[in-house]
Amino acid sequence: MHFETRCVHTGVDKDSTFLSATTPIYPTSTFRWDDLNGHRGFDYTRSGNPTRRALEENLAALEGGIDCRATCTGMSAITATMHLFKPGDHIIAGHDIYGGTWRLFASLFTDMGLKFSFVDMSNPENIRQAATPATKCVWIETPSNPLLNIVDIAAVVKVAQEIKAITIADNTFLSPYLQRPFDFGVDVVVHSTTKYLNGHSDVVGGCVISREKPHAERIGYVVNALGLACSPFDAWLVLRGVKTLGPRMEAHQRGAQALAEFLATHPQVAKVYYPGLKSHPHHELAKRQQKGFGAMLSIDVKGGRPVVEKLLAKLQLFQLAESLGGVESLIEYPDSMSHASMTEDARRAAGISEQTVRISVGIEHPNDLIADFKQAFSG
Ligand SMILES: *Cc1c(COP(=O)(O)O)cnc(C)c1O
Repeated sequence: MHFETRCVHTGVDKDSTFLSATTPIYPTSTFRWDDLNGHRGFDYTRSGNPTRRALEENLAALEGGIDCRATCTGMSAITATMHLFKPGDHIIAGHDIYGGTWRLFASLFTDMGLKFSFVDMSNPENIRQAATPATKCVWIETPSNPLLNIVDIAAVVKVAQEIKAITIADNTFLSPYLQRPFDFGVDVVVHSTTKYLNGHSDVVGGCVISREKPHAERIGYVVNALGLACSPFDAWLVLRGVKTLGPRMEAHQRGAQALAEFLATHPQVAKVYYPGLKSHPHHELAKRQQKGFGAMLSIDVKGGRPVVEKLLAKLQLFQLAESLGGVESLIEYPDSMSHASMTEDARRAAGISEQTVRISVGIEHPNDLIADFKQAFSG
């Protein structure tokens, strides 16, 4: 079956009593046992719930994994994966990863005894340089946030295998419609389903998808033991959202390409970061590794914060808000919003400046989005 068909059908046909066309929501904390010898597959909703299981089957199929656990946020999905490791283990991550992931690694999990190095992953040799005998994991996020650098997944996996580390990829920015890390040998994939998988800015959620049984079993154990799983309602919302993932991603990236090309010619824009532009340093790699260029882009606005403030006040279709991946276009200022949890030094090292603005392009008509920027810049 093709990807779009799996989006619509996987995990859905669950109601043998009434044959409902969509998956029922099971808002129950507990399930009755038939007798002391057994129950019908579910006993307690923290451990498992039929609605959540339907979503998990769907997401596992879309990424090409053998199992998925749907969690209550993207951060809880990432938290679950860190429990594959023990104090003293060393993890190498990109220096320009999601701000919340950076904070989780640099503070809480460092306090728990894990060790982290943050490197520029656009050169996989930096991973070999940072590796120690304790290195157990390489954390991949591509395209990176907010500057849309592309990590060569196959090259990173090769180095990781040489140093006997597993690879975990955060595939939130592209979704499995545009990028499938398992195809390049990655071991575990995580998502913030808050973003493109749900796609409608009305739920926070996450998931962990495993390619092999030992990881799947450990993640299942951790999600149950720590109590990270999502509610049946949230699972249902994401399952509804994911059905339109393919057509949404096509509309998102059509708008992003048009807007990026317009902004690249605008005199008030110093730089556009979008892998779909031929001028992007990793354009060829993105073309090879991804099925499309996605719908996240960043720009450097000439004049820095004062000019940015005026621009944000005048834009009408782009809501000033964090998050991304919803049908409505959003715009935000990483320096004081999405990446405020990083230290200023870490932000500058990652290339985030006072001029940088991040845009999540929705599925509005591209011409309306371009017209909005035109009027906002011209005033
Ligand atoms: C949003 C995001 C997260 C965190 O997800 P939440 O659902 O907000 O907890 C992690 N990684 C990336 C790339 C994200 O964009």
